Amino acid sequence: MTAIQTGGPEYDARIRRAERLAAQHFFASEFLDFYKHIAAFQKILRANIASPSGAKSHSASSVELRAPLDLTVLLPHFRGFLSTIEQHAPPALARSAHQMSLLPSDSWIASLEAYWQLAGNYDQQVGAFAQFLARAFLQPYAEFRAALLPKPPIVVTTRLCPLCGARPLSGVLRVEGDGGKRFLLCSFCSQEWEFRRILCPTCGEEAEAKLPVYIAEQLPHIRVEACDSCKFYLTTVDLTKDGHAIPFVDDLAAIPLTLWAHEHGYSRLQPNLLGT
Ligand SMILES: [Zn+2]
Ligand SMILES: [Zn+2]
Repeated sequence: MTAIQTGGPEYDARIRRAERLAAQHFFASEFLDFYKHIAAFQKILRANIASPSGAKSHSASSVELRAPLDLTVLLPHFRGFLSTIEQHAPPALARSAHQMSLLPSDSWIASLEAYWQLAGNYDQQVGAFAQFLARAFLQPYAEFRAALLPKPPIVVTTRLCPLCGARPLSGVLRVEGDGGKRFLLCSFCSQEWEFRRILCPTCGEEAEAKLPVYIAEQLPHIRVEACDSCKFYLTTVDLTKDGHAIPFVDDLAAIPLTLWAHEHGYSRLQPNLLGT
């Protein structure tokens, strides 16, 4: 298990990485610009959650990742979040944020709590826009909770996050000896856990011939790792090729890979924050 620090510096690094990728890859710049506004909001929210007045979330009684949300800390920020989205999102999503802002706080709570329980496994049941809003808003809170939990022992090859049970978002190859070791990055709490390299995280296929890899010219450090048995794929960010990559952010730029995967009939197990 690799611990990921998710304080202010973590968000600053994500924002800088998004800026750099946007400058290099025009095809992803609109996405990444929008993501930068989300991350800037998340940075402030994370600082508020971690502040002494947000300290209720720190108590030992709530050290379970999906323990009930601490709404006294979260709710005061939700209107500001919706207005950030309204200002910077593509039109349909901006309208959805505006509509949400007109609803009473009971509806906000219902939407956030529904997502919190399903996140990383059955998000689809929440509806695409409601899911985006809850996911982007609650991501700093899930990461904060994950950082408080004791690290589970390294369990190789569990298909779901050992901390919260969510599906992986991406793979990550980190330098290890002469090659790279693969980890999976949780789609919900952003923790990583170790996972064998030649093994489909969806169906358990182990035959190398059934696990094709695709790399696009524009993004040589990101791989599509597909599976011909279950037809799912994972994007894997190869830190042995680009040590500056931040898997969560680089995955947002992997648009040519997503197109390739869809053209070849592969589906993504768990969409990223921006739904690709
Ligand atoms: Zn997790
Ligand atoms: Zn498979």
